[in-house]
Amino acid sequence: MKAVVVNPHAKANVEVIEKDVRPLKSGEALVDVEYCGVCHTDLHVAAGDFGDVEGRVLGHEGIGVVSQIADDVTSLKVGDRVSIAWMFHACGRCEYCTTGRETFCRNVQNAGYSVDGGMAEQCIVTADYAVKVPDGLDPAQASSITCAGVTTYKAIKVSDVKAGQWIAIYGCGGLGNLAIQYAKHVFNAKVIAVDINDDKLALAKEIGANMTINPTTDGDAEKIIQEQLGGAHAAVVTAVSKQAFNSAVDAVRACGKVTAVGLPSETMDLNIPRLVLDGIEVIGSLVGTRKDLEEAFQFGAEGKVVPVVQTRHLHEVQDVFEEMEQGKIQGRMVIDFHQH
Ligand code: NAD
Ligand code: ZN
Ligand code: ZN
Repeated sequence: MKAVVVNPHAKANVEVIEKDVRPLKSGEALVDVEYCGVCHTDLHVAAGDFGDVEGRVLGHEGIGVVSQIADDVTSLKVGDRVSIAWMFHACGRCEYCTTGRETFCRNVQNAGYSVDGGMAEQCIVTADYAVKVPDGLDPAQASSITCAGVTTYKAIKVSDVKAGQWIAIYGCGGLGNLAIQYAKHVFNAKVIAVDINDDKLALAKEIGANMTINPTTDGDAEKIIQEQLGGAHAAVVTAVSKQAFNSAVDAVRACGKVTAVGLPSETMDLNIPRLVLDGIEVIGSLVGTRKDLEEAFQFGAEGKVVPVVQTRHLHEVQDVFEEMEQGKIQGRMVIDFHQH
């Protein structure tokens, strides 16, 4: 089968190779991949930001159809359409797994990072951890929900924003466009979209943002948000830049919450009197549980959230990585494994 693997010596740190799939073990299923989105996390992994994983098959926005199951598998059957997500497998027994926080399991396996992922013609999954895609949800759109969607849906849950309140979304790319839609159409919040690219803000407006700010041309987002709204009730930061994190901390009102999602390899500033005197909270949020993904898919199937996706051929994958690095992508580019 063809697979996209990490190679630090190749263009964009990735290459397409031929690879064999091993036989299934107990509890596993084989998935014939239909689509896999390219997430900015794939760029971090390929660049070695989280350690050297040369040869690893990338991809954690995979969607495909089960073609084979191990003898003991009861949770999936051949023909089911399922996800291949970053939260690929957890121990199921630890304090995190047993308290609804399985993404933080200390023995978690992550698709496309610690185990081979979904950017390949076939992928082996742990059957109990693959989430079924509901009928009525387009599989290319579902791929984008498998990471970008569930991550932002969960982050907004974590942010505690209430209906009618203001939430600032920093970064309106693959994650951000879905953050805006979940915030608006599922949580009924009012959305301030912040991005340094006007084309991303145009899309943000189209999909429902109430207000847009480009800090490079409009002025500091935190000042505008404080002056015009008295501060946001919450902020979710998907931008790959510490400036955005610092701005978000200053953009929320007293007792506001900043949910960190983007993964720039940097340190953010956190003014201690600001934190204490204004009672603000800053918290990290990591993808979502299987239950979060089931819910995020369902809102997609109901049409409340419509991922902005464009399909690309497998042979274009290096170009897609470069386009993402340059900030040229609107929504998500999704590799279509039906065509080469
Ligand atoms: P993307 O490249 O599609 O989008 C990033 C967006 O941020 C772009 O629109 C870009 O213009 C914008 N941006 C850059 N600098 C900015 C700034 N200073 N202010 C405002 N906007 C700015 O990337 P993506 O796929 O949406 O991923 C975003 C980040 O989230 C990555 O670091 C990725 O690794 C991370 N991520 C985290 C999780 C998690 O579970 N926490 C899950 C998926 C992705
Ligand atoms: Zn991702
Ligand atoms: Zn665990």
